[in-house]
Amino acid sequence: MTQRTFRYRILVVDDEEALRNIGQLLLEAQGYEVVCAEDGFEGLAALKQSLPDIIISDLRMPNMNGFEFLSVVRRRFPIIPVIVISGEFLGVSVPETVLADAFFSKGAYTIPELFERIVDLLHELPTRPRVGKSDKAAVWVMNNKGTVAVTCSECLRTFPVTGVSEGANEADCDFCSCRVHFEIIEKAPNRDAIPSNVPLAD
Ligand SMILES: [Zn+2]
Repeated sequence: MTQRTFRYRILVVDDEEALRNIGQLLLEAQGYEVVCAEDGFEGLAALKQSLPDIIISDLRMPNMNGFEFLSVVRRRFPIIPVIVISGEFLGVSVPETVLADAFFSKGAYTIPELFERIVDLLHELPTRPRVGKSDKAAVWVMNNKGTVAVTCSECLRTFPVTGVSEGANEADCDFCSCRVHFEIIEKAPNRDAIPSNVPLAD
C-alpha cells in the first residue's frame, strides 16, 4: 500500500463559481488538496492560512484583480509557481517569471495540458531559482481590443498602454513614473504563437 504523507496544495483563484468548482473536482481527482478563493483579497487571506505549492489564478476579477494579487504573490512569495488562466487577457510577453510561470487562455487549452504543466512546475520546485528582478515588464493584451496592460517591473503595479508596436517598447509607469521596458512578441494576438512560458536564462 502506498500512502503519501502529504498532498500538494493548489490555490485556485477565480470569480466564476462554476469554474472554481470544476477546477476543484478535477484537481482533487488528481490527488491534490485544493483551496479556492473568489478574488485577490480572498486569495491573500488564503495565503495567510496556509501556503500552497502552486497557484492557479484568473486575471479579471472584482475587488482585487489577478494583476494586483499576483504582484503581491511575486513580491512576498516568489518561490510559489503561478499559472494564469484568463479569458480576457492574452499573455504576449511573460519574461522571467515576473508575474506568472505559465499562461493558458480560457477555452483554448486541454485539461491534460494543464495537469502536465502543474506536474512540471511541481517537479521544478526544489531547484526553482530565486526570482530575480527582471528589467522587462510582463505584458498582457486585452482580447480583440488591443489595449495592453503592462506590469511595472519596479512597483509591480499594472497600468494600460496604448499605441504599442511590435518589438521593443517603453512607457512611464502610471504609479511610480519609472520608465518601463517591454516587448511585444506578436502584435496580432495569435493563440498558437503565444508562449505558455519563457524559460529562465542560464
Ligand atoms: Zn511603477
